[in-house]
Amino acid sequence: MTDNIFPVPAAAAAATRTTMAQYRERYAQSLADPDGFWREQVGRLDWLRAPTRMGDWSWDPVRIRWFEDGVLNASANCLDRQHPAAIAIIWEADDPAAASRRISYGELLADTCRMANALVALGVDKGDRVTIYMPMIPEAVVAMLACARIGAVHSVVFGGFSAEAIAGRLQDADSHFIITADEGRRAGKTVPLKATVDEALEKHEGVRVEAVLVVRHTGGKVAMHPERDHWWHELKPQLPETCTPQAMSAEDPLFILYTSGSTGKPKGVLHTTGGYLLWANLTFETVFDYRPGELFWCTADVGWVTGHSYIVYGPLSAGATVLMFEGVPSWPTTARFWQVIEKHKVEIFYTAPTALRAVMRDGDGPPGEHDLSSLRLLGTVGEPINPEAWNWYHRVIGKGALPIVDTWWQTETGGTLISPLPGATPMKPGSATLPFYGIEPALVDAEGIVLDRAEGEETSGNLVVLRSWPGQARTVFGDHERFTQTYFTTYRGKYFTGDGARQDKDGYWWITGRVDDVINVSGHRMGTAEVESALVAHKDVAEAAVVAFPHDIKGQGIYAYVTLNAGIETSDALLTELRATVRHEIGGIAVPDHLHVTPGLPKTRSGKIMRRILRKIAENDFAAMGDISTLADPSVVEALIEGRLNR
Ligand code: ATP
Ligand code: MG
Repeated sequence: MTDNIFPVPAAAAAATRTTMAQYRERYAQSLADPDGFWREQVGRLDWLRAPTRMGDWSWDPVRIRWFEDGVLNASANCLDRQHPAAIAIIWEADDPAAASRRISYGELLADTCRMANALVALGVDKGDRVTIYMPMIPEAVVAMLACARIGAVHSVVFGGFSAEAIAGRLQDADSHFIITADEGRRAGKTVPLKATVDEALEKHEGVRVEAVLVVRHTGGKVAMHPERDHWWHELKPQLPETCTPQAMSAEDPLFILYTSGSTGKPKGVLHTTGGYLLWANLTFETVFDYRPGELFWCTADVGWVTGHSYIVYGPLSAGATVLMFEGVPSWPTTARFWQVIEKHKVEIFYTAPTALRAVMRDGDGPPGEHDLSSLRLLGTVGEPINPEAWNWYHRVIGKGALPIVDTWWQTETGGTLISPLPGATPMKPGSATLPFYGIEPALVDAEGIVLDRAEGEETSGNLVVLRSWPGQARTVFGDHERFTQTYFTTYRGKYFTGDGARQDKDGYWWITGRVDDVINVSGHRMGTAEVESALVAHKDVAEAAVVAFPHDIKGQGIYAYVTLNAGIETSDALLTELRATVRHEIGGIAVPDHLHVTPGLPKTRSGKIMRRILRKIAENDFAAMGDISTLADPSVVEALIEGRLNR
């Protein structure tokens, strides 16, 4: 696997603004002289007062500051300084027959100012938390930027979450204002947003909300609570289309965002204004090598950090044109992505392995029916990408000629930390490759000792970062102790990512999965991602999830859940083949003790497999599943338990 190197495609190499030698030199400079490096970068943003101080941080005790004496406004950087006639957002509706929308930077600025004025009129002050519960429509971006304009702190809650999840986040963020819409549309169905907000407010006593601003989207009928609820389309015409941006200190909060909840109760991660925005801007322009006029499509929802950084703050601060998509990859058919790329001539496409695996199930046919020749660059984020999915993406979508940037990062990191640069870095399927400027990753053992890697050797361990970067989260909202405990206490003075990783003989980084998910079979440590990739390599397997269970002899055994491709039935012969595949790809030690074929896997709303649930089921412990509020389809759990009991 390690030696499977794909050189930088010729066209990307010829056009690149950063060569491998330049990357290496700049990377070395960013570590050797961080102040000098960041001083050169601050000019990417428009400051009301330029910062003179760069990084000022400690991780023991935890206190992180970047550009602290700088003053700026994030919405002004995303709107006022862009060309008003340039297109900011091309919106594609859930329904392929519905008209798309094109919104210029000038229009986005005017709407943002109007909504900012509406928020002020409703009583929102600088520093107040505003909860945004919206479908994927341009007004979601307007809402975020309107908050930023007046210095309010947005907390976007994914538009598919339940009333309980909204209530919990409202309470945790001590938020008294909500921006929502009547309804959303996803996969041909309507999603009752306003009604879900009402339910959250009625059922949960601890929640106090002063005002709800409601965007009319579908026109569906909703109940409006007098005094509390306000229609956006009624307020909008009366409001001025200018609004002076609040002067914000670089360290004033910009937003709170809850993590996906893959490993436990979601954390309300807090990002501040200057460092976050600079990191989003720099990583966007560098990792996607964005050229003015290109159309960039990030398929994430704005409810996740990927949407925050690579639909809103990164691209808009760079004056880019983004495609915003209301729908899902598999509706009306699994060709939807390819149809949209063809329709709008997307140049840069950034999606998640889970989405790719979902559409790969139907084979090479659907993408083959669409003209994908506008594409110049592909990206992936969210999980380790199985080499099988990478190869399909590369061969079928990229026609073997496009770079793929596999970007490793987290809600807490604000933007990408490890990724290839498309015109510089030779790729290896499944590896996020090399660290971004200013990022110093390291591997530690269980005691926190940094593992040195001898030239030409491999090392694996727990992934930490040794120094702060501007996009780093500053705290967990209202719980700095949890922030310290979660990230800086396991290995004192180091940022612990929670992920395991391997650095190969070329220095490339491979994320092997969550540290909690490492399996120890008879003393052999294996990442779940590697066993899963071996299973997915079989032609009939769509997805795999692997967990450990207690085993009398081996210490831990391997329990593998698999879903099969469209039209494939399970059989003993198939299970035998799957075992053989793992033996061939990794070795006998990795062959699963149990293979459980299931119609579905438990996933978070952001598409990540919740392995902690699978662990419980493998252990025959069906009682305490923990926080499952971020699960996309809770009924999957029932089916899994039933499958387990019938074994
Ligand atoms: P929680 O922190 O609540 O458990 P989460 O970690 O799933 O949820 P996110 O911040 O959305 O929440 O996800 C970050 C994690 O996603 C990373 O720690 C890593 O495990 C995984 N990840 C993201 N991108 C990649 C990638 N390119 N390769 C491998 N893993 C990735
Ligand atoms: Mg996490």
